[in-house]
Amino acid sequence: MFTLPDLLYPYDALEPYIDAQTMQIHHGKHHQGYVDNLNKALADYPELQNKSVEDLLKDLNAVPEAIRTAVRNHGGGHANHSLFWQFMSPKGGEPIGAVAQLKDQLIQAVMTRFGSGWAWVVKDAGGKLQVMSTANQDSPLSEGLMPILGVDVWEHAYYLKYQNRRADYLAAWWNVVNWDKVAELL
Ligand code: MN
Repeated sequence: MFTLPDLLYPYDALEPYIDAQTMQIHHGKHHQGYVDNLNKALADYPELQNKSVEDLLKDLNAVPEAIRTAVRNHGGGHANHSLFWQFMSPKGGEPIGAVAQLKDQLIQAVMTRFGSGWAWVVKDAGGKLQVMSTANQDSPLSEGLMPILGVDVWEHAYYLKYQNRRADYLAAWWNVVNWDKVAELL
């Protein structure tokens, strides 16, 4: 069964950029919900329970149709958030030029994502970096792309502190990017 990963820092560690209450609800309620619903979806499919969530998402067509949407949404939610917590840190290290120079494109991807979703820097099969966004909890893994950095643009990620000011949230979030994690994934 899948479990909620611990954060590597306290809920208030990203203040003042990301507030403690948002982190607590986001991790403890939203992410926990994705984990619980993914487990529920897989309950009758023991042969899938030993797969990693990444493997499930990389080949959604191999997932039985009856639970494919649930795995896409809740498995995606689990995988995306597990990365997202690691994409942030109170002491993020040195910005990586190849990724940092994509900031404007990432902002553009965030601001043009209508409704809920994610904006990403991803690496394609040839190792080339690109910026994209996904709707809902869709994972770049399902398109054969590897996430290098990603930001959650669901309102639950920022509404308590930033309300409708998505651009302000992104500007603040940039201060807590965990560049050490980006370097590791590159
Ligand atoms: Mn979220």
